[in-house]
Amino acid sequence: MAFYKTKVKILIFILSICISSLSAQDKEVVISIDKLSKDVYMLTGQGGNIGIYIGQKNVFMIDDQFDRLSDKIKAAIESLTNKPIAFLFNTHMHGDHTGGNANFNTDLTTLVAHDNVRKRVMAGQQKKLDNKKITVEYYNKMLPEVTFSEDITFYDKDETIMAFHVHNAHTDGDAMVYFVNNDIIHMGDTYFAGRYPYIDLNSGGSLQGFIDAHKKALMVISEETKIIPGHGRPSTKKELENYVAMLEGVKSNIVAAIEAGKSLEEVKSDKSISAAYDSTHGNGYIKPEAMRETFYKSLKSK
Ligand SMILES: [Zn+2]
Repeated sequence: MAFYKTKVKILIFILSICISSLSAQDKEVVISIDKLSKDVYMLTGQGGNIGIYIGQKNVFMIDDQFDRLSDKIKAAIESLTNKPIAFLFNTHMHGDHTGGNANFNTDLTTLVAHDNVRKRVMAGQQKKLDNKKITVEYYNKMLPEVTFSEDITFYDKDETIMAFHVHNAHTDGDAMVYFVNNDIIHMGDTYFAGRYPYIDLNSGGSLQGFIDAHKKALMVISEETKIIPGHGRPSTKKELENYVAMLEGVKSNIVAAIEAGKSLEEVKSDKSISAAYDSTHGNGYIKPEAMRETFYKSLKSK
């Protein structure tokens, strides 16, 4: 049994690399709720942070964590409102943000995401279908039903919900969602508050795109805006600015190492490159060495 549990954990690890550190333990997952404004809430459980906007008649939901948590997430939403979920928006394709898609995809709910999210969810689910792990019905319900290439806007009486794509950041299908009147932005996994980021180079992510995504968010938001990160606690603009400074600081050190002809192995083992930030950002899921490796590979491949 213990061995089986270990295998399951490894599988989860592979399926979803940006899973929170909580998964390392066999804890009962509790969905906690942060009220961030009049209409917007953040739900935390296991995996990516969920955003909930309660509108005039309907709910707008951002991301849905894992398939096995859907009942708990539904119960948490029902504790806030009995309005139906009109839209479920996926910030990107990773399994800890889209894993519950099929469970939330009813006649009342429309799944929305960037074009590349649909493509990558299709590819991932096709493998499961081929291996008979899921049914055709489940496969179809996992897929975003409305997709966009650059941006899409939703209107709900006084609220305007702007979703916009950022290019080759955490993946090649990231989008941020900004609730204009509530003044809250959900950045998906283009922001890992208080920890080094995971940048999925194999799914079209890049360090420069990741930094550019932060700069785009900084142009949109104000000092008062509350930021929902993909992982970590809600943040302010000031905290996001400090995070960008960290990214730029590590980047310039690695650029200097590359220009000095340093190899990947040398950069991985050179703790001085990120020493200024390791105590504040190196204790999350992505450790300093893994971060240096990803940054190096991304900068080197340009
Ligand atoms: Zn992710």
